Amino acid sequence: MENQKILPAAIDLPLNPKVLEEVISKAKDWALMHGVCMRSKTNFNMDSLQFAPFVLTPSLYPRKEFEKAVNLQTILNELIHNVAHDTEFLRETLAGTIQVDEFTSNLFKIYETVLAEGITQILTLGLLRSDYFNTTNNNILQVEFNTIASSFGGISSKFQLFHSYILSELGHYDKIKNLPENNALSGLCDAMVEAWNIIGNTKAAILFIIEDVTYNICDQRFHEFHIRENYPHVKVIRKTLTDVFNTGVLGSNKELIVDGIVISVVYFRAGYEPGHYHSQNEWSARLMIERSSAIKCPSIHYHLAGTKKVQQALAKPGILKRFLTDEDEITRVKEIFTGLYSLDKEEGGDKVVEMVLKNPEGYVMKPQREGGGNNIYGSDIPEKLTTMSEEERSAYIVMDRIFPPISRSYMIRPGAQGAPSIVDMVSELGIFGAIIGTKEKILYNRQVGHMLRTKGSSANEGGVAAGMGALDSPYLFD
Ligand code: ADP
Ligand code: MG
Repeated sequence: MENQKILPAAIDLPLNPKVLEEVISKAKDWALMHGVCMRSKTNFNMDSLQFAPFVLTPSLYPRKEFEKAVNLQTILNELIHNVAHDTEFLRETLAGTIQVDEFTSNLFKIYETVLAEGITQILTLGLLRSDYFNTTNNNILQVEFNTIASSFGGISSKFQLFHSYILSELGHYDKIKNLPENNALSGLCDAMVEAWNIIGNTKAAILFIIEDVTYNICDQRFHEFHIRENYPHVKVIRKTLTDVFNTGVLGSNKELIVDGIVISVVYFRAGYEPGHYHSQNEWSARLMIERSSAIKCPSIHYHLAGTKKVQQALAKPGILKRFLTDEDEITRVKEIFTGLYSLDKEEGGDKVVEMVLKNPEGYVMKPQREGGGNNIYGSDIPEKLTTMSEEERSAYIVMDRIFPPISRSYMIRPGAQGAPSIVDMVSELGIFGAIIGTKEKILYNRQVGHMLRTKGSSANEGGVAAGMGALDSPYLFD
């Protein structure tokens, strides 16, 4: 691995063992009592929660880069909105991928079906998250752009308070001003309710599409409870795609009716990976939702616009001006792109394979999947690349590996025994955005909050729900 810069800590570490023990015990209880929790995968029990892994002290993040990401979000919202509405671009970009990737191909079939029939609901709702790693030169680079089930807005909104509490407990009340305010939860929920208002059917509900078992339950329920508390007239229901297949119908005006309830907004917290579709039934349910007059978050074209292949295509020279007009904005977006490469033969894939095989540690290979655990790193790449056919390669893209600066603190995980030691970690910043509009007109476009996820510096991936990551807050410095 490259030499990685080490960032200072927000406060002097290590802590005295007694202080450490006490503050961890307070931190765990704070987390449990404020819903910074998940259901355990290893010790599953519907009736209990455990705290979500967290970093005890907030990780340093350069203020300038944080603000850059925040200020870029509405431009990225607009970019992805325009990409999602460019049928030719999606067709061209994903043509090779859908030949070999069954999941993307199934999504694409739904897209082509509703295009051919005529799109019933031209408005779409995007609750988006752009993810970044900072580099040792203090220059953020985009890891990926999420257009479906962008998670942790709910729990992350608690983290400014959480770390304020911890810093105060440790005698550093003066430092809490460096924790930026985070209103991701209300921002995301407000946009959902705005979509509900636009439809204007006071009897209709917002439907959350969920997995069979929801481990990240607090994050999801925070959204539901926030809506119910602040907009008590708006009903929220939760169903799996299987439930929608079993109890859903389209009414005479293509209104979606699930379990007898009319749905005006559908918010997908599932449906982004093949495992969420147990049979053709779930695909039928997804198609039925897509055909309906409900506003979808995301609609199928937004889902497709969030694929890794699209991300790679957007990094090709000259492409951005197809979607953004302002030169300054184009320059700013380009700055956050790292090297992204196609493996398609027609797009110079052979050369990319050669380049990657020379230095596999410098790259990440990514399929068209979400949710973590799907990428291929470093020494695993050569075998994968050399054993797949040229066609199969089209299911993946290659990306320069980013080496973020290292921070040090205690990472606290449920069930861990004994006093934790200080570990080397890297942090991934996510900025949330919300957008509503049609192809012709954007009605609503906001940056709404952030999240920070931190993982051990030697771990390839740091998904919190997926297992390796921990929740954190940015501690801004100049
Ligand atoms: P997913 O859709 O599964 O979340 P990501 O593109 O976000 O896919 O990759 C998952 C994780 O892999 C990221 O959260 C990050 O930890 C790591 N990762 C992804 N891309 C890179 C990269 N270019 N350099 C270093 N790590 C990366
Ligand atoms: Mg990701």
